[in-house]
Amino acid sequence: MKTSELKNLRIAIIGGGYGGASAAKALQSVGAENIDVYEQAPALGQVGAGIGLRPPSVELFRQWGIFEAIAAASSPSDHLEILTADGKHVLAQEEWPFLRAYDQINHNRMIHRGDFIDVLLGALPEGMVHLDHKLETIEDHGETATLRFTNGRAVTADLVIGADGIRSTVRNQVFGEIQPVFSGEHAYRAVISIEDAHGLVTDDNPRFYMGENGTIAYNLPLRHRGQLSYDITAPSEDDSWAPEISTEYLEKILEGFDERIVQVARELDLSQVTSRSVFDIDSLDSWHTDSVALLGDAAHAMLHHQGQGANSAILDAGGLADALVQGDSVKDALSIYETTRKPLTDELQRVSRLGWHADAVDSAFPANQ
Ligand SMILES: Cc1cc2nc3c(=O)[nH]c(=O)nc-3n(C[C@H](O)[C@H](O)[C@H](O)COP(=O)(O)OP(=O)(O)OC[C@H]3O[C@@H](n4cnc5c(N)ncnc54)[C@H](O)[C@@H]3O)c2cc1C
Repeated sequence: MKTSELKNLRIAIIGGGYGGASAAKALQSVGAENIDVYEQAPALGQVGAGIGLRPPSVELFRQWGIFEAIAAASSPSDHLEILTADGKHVLAQEEWPFLRAYDQINHNRMIHRGDFIDVLLGALPEGMVHLDHKLETIEDHGETATLRFTNGRAVTADLVIGADGIRSTVRNQVFGEIQPVFSGEHAYRAVISIEDAHGLVTDDNPRFYMGENGTIAYNLPLRHRGQLSYDITAPSEDDSWAPEISTEYLEKILEGFDERIVQVARELDLSQVTSRSVFDIDSLDSWHTDSVALLGDAAHAMLHHQGQGANSAILDAGGLADALVQGDSVKDALSIYETTRKPLTDELQRVSRLGWHADAVDSAFPANQ
């Protein structure tokens, strides 16, 4: 589409998480000016935990002019290490895919989730993000779609992006209702001071310790903050939203792990630990109509075993912006967007469901992405 067409296109993005904020930035970078982001929450935030931003995401941050802000809020990592639970044997140590695929080395950036959303939203013009706007209904008219919010507001747009997460209202109303699938796992996450990490942090690279019983303990260093994101994924049949945990339970599931990991668990302030059941969705048949498209978890929520959910949302945003430039119309662009992105995220959804097994780690990056 021509820059003049993109400039006037009425774009409504539902959801102000990583996907929605990235989409707003990406679309702005190709000349769209009439963008509104609608977020249900009265204030924006993220759980206290670290996240790794992959080299292809970092390349997009350069294109969007926010690399410096991301770099200032993160630490550079060059590889991922997978070890046995006791930490005595390295099962895989591999450089991040695509680290050297660009004009300069793009390190994986280790960042706190709160800092990441702050950088993304801070890069958007004032007034673009509308808080307290919970989408209630969406009506797809073909070339436009009308959104109605619980606060009574109604908006019609030429392009609607559903970046409203795993329980997406846009997806359920436009593409058919589906339910998230419980993975049979819990994720426990806490951010602690490096001083309390018993020497677990020696550099900026994440380390995954693989238990025989299916439990995985992983460390995501945030050295620029003097902190470590201490994470555990463990099998469980309890699918409650925020499962209760105790120190004794953590000690039990960490039996046989590196003593430093167990010691951190013993000393954790449980009121500061985010405990969640983990869900994904089945791959969708399609995620666009002529004026509505899904992006991020709304389109392809995946298990976190590959650390690719947020990164995929960022790459979706870049792919959508490119498609709008290439396509002759919104309809054409959305078809290009899905054709480009969906095979990659389908594969990530599939591989993420295979999980990790201590006795079968061939590669740190089995999806090759
Ligand atoms: C334990 C765990 C670890 C993870 N680790 C990683 C990792 O290392 N790397 C990685 O890349 N990914 C990781 N992920 C995945 C990542 O967190 C998600 O893929 C990512 O947050 C998806 O972003 P999103 O913007 O698509 O959705 P969300 O973050 O869910 O954002 C959706 C937004 O839409 C809003 N919303 C919802 N409904 C409405 C409505 N009706 N109206 C208006 N607004 C609405 C929500 O309030 C929210 O702000 C992990 C996930 C888990 C559970």
